[in-house]
Amino acid sequence: MNVTEFRDAVRAWLDENDLRPGPDHSFDAQVEQLGRVRRALYDAGWMRYGWPEAVGGLGGDAMLRAVLGEEVATRDLAEPGIYSMIEVLAPTMISYARPELAAEMVPKLLRGEEQWCQGFSEPGSGSDLASLSTRAVQRGDEWVVNGQKVWTSLAQFSSRCVLLTRTAPGHGGITAFFVDMDTPGITVRPLRTMHGVDEFAEVYFDDVVVPADRMLGNPGDGWKLAMDLLPHERSTCFWHRIAYLFTRLDRLVQETDSASDDELGAAYLALHTVRSRSYETQQRLASGAPLGPETSVDKVLLATAEQQLFDTARDLLPGVIELSDGEWRTEFLYSRAATIYGGTAEIQRNIIARRLLGLGTE
Ligand SMILES: Cc1cc2nc3c(=O)[nH]c(=O)nc-3n(C[C@H](O)[C@H](O)[C@H](O)COP(=O)(O)OP(=O)(O)OC[C@H]3O[C@@H](n4cnc5c(N)ncnc54)[C@H](O)[C@@H]3O)c2cc1C
Repeated sequence: MNVTEFRDAVRAWLDENDLRPGPDHSFDAQVEQLGRVRRALYDAGWMRYGWPEAVGGLGGDAMLRAVLGEEVATRDLAEPGIYSMIEVLAPTMISYARPELAAEMVPKLLRGEEQWCQGFSEPGSGSDLASLSTRAVQRGDEWVVNGQKVWTSLAQFSSRCVLLTRTAPGHGGITAFFVDMDTPGITVRPLRTMHGVDEFAEVYFDDVVVPADRMLGNPGDGWKLAMDLLPHERSTCFWHRIAYLFTRLDRLVQETDSASDDELGAAYLALHTVRSRSYETQQRLASGAPLGPETSVDKVLLATAEQQLFDTARDLLPGVIELSDGEWRTEFLYSRAATIYGGTAEIQRNIIARRLLGLGTE
């Protein structure tokens, strides 16, 4: 099926199958809705396109996943940030887990039977991820994990975690595991964001026993896994997010009734720019090319466009951010995180300067 046929078929199916969320906008309800949407799309086959047959997919290239997420976001069926986590964690499992483990686990994620989380950041290791100190020590056929993660999105809803640990000094001493979140010794403490939801959590590991066959790759492959994973946070996820941002631009135009406003025009231009850039990234991903540091350009453009859009809402809808408790306020506040999650704006600019432009070290 080509992209146009796929899009038409998905649209027709979504027109006939009402997956719109109910009136409850709480975060718990959003996570439940995410599971409902994934399950329905998986059972109808749509969620399986663009994924390899070895993990329950129906084949086809990644552009099909981009299109499906775009339709989901455009219709406001699921919150795009949490919907897109699949685009980060499933490719990592496909590349690094034992084939039998990936074949068993990835369909559970695609079908919405489970949520998974990404345990990378620590209190002392965010931008400087390679300094992480959560330790894994081998004990026969097992590894014993001790340490703490922070800002772990959806940890309190998750059945599994892609976890980075330290097994030896340096970049080559980082090792990744796929950990069951119900293992004894794991404590999850939700953290409230400034837009008022418990989206992420602190996660504590106290003598957590992980079987050796849950290692992703080999001992010391964790840094490479992280470098492969992070560009996925800036590819298909962004295509979905941009679709969602365009819906908010349309809403803003309707609510202000001033489509010719200069600020709206600039917000449109910023969104169109990141969409054009992201289109090229989608094409490269679909062609099977590896993604790398060039996706940092996508991240800078996305964060800039998102914040510019909600700044425009603040300027054109006086008081709607500061004085009301509605969706504009929530989304404005969340847009501030765009220059932090998935690597901060400063770190992205460092990567662009050093690795793309060859401007030397910091
Ligand atoms: C909404 C959200 C969801 C998240 N979800 C997850 C998740 O699921 N899993 C996960 O592991 N993490 C997650 N994170 C964490 C995120 O990856 C980190 O917050 C981010 O990498 C920055 O790390 P830090 O918070 O420790 O800040 P720091 O690294 O302490 O940075 C603080 C400030 O210093 C600047 N800075 C640091 N180093 C440099 C440098 N070398 N040059 C210039 N400036 C520098 C930074 O840009 C920043 O402004 C999430 C964060 C957010 C906001």
